[in-house]
Amino acid sequence: PAPLYAERGAGARLFDVDGNEFIDYCMAYGPLIHGHAPPAIAKAIQEQVLRGTTFGTQHRGELELARRLTTHVPCAELVCFVNSGTEAVLVALRLARAYTGKPKIVRFEGHYHGWADPILAAAGETAGTGGARWKPRAVTGGQSRSAHEDVLVLPWNDPEAVEQVLKRYGDEIAAVIMEPVLCNNGCLRPLPGYLEHVQDLCRRHGVVLIFDEVITGFRLSLGGAQQLFGVTPYLCVLGKAIAGGLPLSAVGGRREIMRLIAEGRVNHMGTLNGNPVVTAAATATIDLLAQDGGAAYRRMNALTDQLTEGLTRLARKHGIPFLINRVGPVFHTLFTERSEIRHYGDFVRYVDGARCVQFCHALFRNGVFVRPSGLWYVSTAHTPQDVEQTLAAADQAFASLAQGNTI
Ligand code: PLP
Repeated sequence: PAPLYAERGAGARLFDVDGNEFIDYCMAYGPLIHGHAPPAIAKAIQEQVLRGTTFGTQHRGELELARRLTTHVPCAELVCFVNSGTEAVLVALRLARAYTGKPKIVRFEGHYHGWADPILAAAGETAGTGGARWKPRAVTGGQSRSAHEDVLVLPWNDPEAVEQVLKRYGDEIAAVIMEPVLCNNGCLRPLPGYLEHVQDLCRRHGVVLIFDEVITGFRLSLGGAQQLFGVTPYLCVLGKAIAGGLPLSAVGGRREIMRLIAEGRVNHMGTLNGNPVVTAAATATIDLLAQDGGAAYRRMNALTDQLTEGLTRLARKHGIPFLINRVGPVFHTLFTERSEIRHYGDFVRYVDGARCVQFCHALFRNGVFVRPSGLWYVSTAHTPQDVEQTLAAADQAFASLAQGNTI
């Protein structure tokens, strides 16, 4: 309802400049997988700051982090580092074009891959015939008109659309890029067999399959969605949770593609890429996640069970049509009459986004901070008591929705 000005964060709690306290499920849009200011990460950062914040040379921290990524992430035989998910996507696309010698990129409706001109695109409104059907449209003022010349936008979770397009344009397409779980719009899972099908089509047409795991990487498991679903892409993009709240992203992938950077055939630059402060934060983040055979994931999943079961029960109690789409410790609260939402088109058509905003505002007034889009992140810092308190706030929020109250 009003811009939130943060003063400080501690664990699962966010405090604003007016002295209000919130249980935080926005978690800075995903990165804070261990909550605010986790002691082990803060210590790693402090120690590194005293040894130097950036060197402009190779350093031990990037090797230590690279070793962890190549151990945990199935497709990552080699890795490189940048500062944001947006930049990492650009590196991956450039690698795919250089490796295949082809110009076009296939992306999907409703997926988000950062804000850069060459990839920020929506499906064209006018469903023409043939190629015109997949023509993208700009989504912001100031976007270059030529930026989308080589971009095709397809419906996701529709194996035939990919098949048709690769058949027709396969010898021009360098890459197919997707969020392996569509977290940004509805937390939609891939339909059974879909990822395998696209992987097979890409292999047959010499196209680089890229998983954008900026949200799912280290969030769903140490090996991300590719490990969870058992489908290994050629390249992946990692970000957000990888560094527990510091600006580091990475591209990982097959040696034969990644080595184009090592050999100087693909340009990869950036003054602060992989600086020792962010690599120290990332190494500490990953080590906490890997402790005790992945106990952190079991804990986050158990808390998310408690939270999602409670929310579903309360919605029913108040007679509110409601659905939760969830993958591990990330879920989307959907206000819909439908019993399932599996496609982006259904998410747009059948989900009441305005009602979700009202629900999140009502939660906010009761001390719970959730992204108004309805995407929740549970961290290792949340506790069963936080969840109980959240459910008490949700009881009131559902009640005010049922009474038709708006803010
Ligand atoms: N890819 C996905 C799936 C994302 O969700 C985001 C950001 O939300 C990005 C890429 C861009 O990352 P960044 O905001 O770090 O540039």
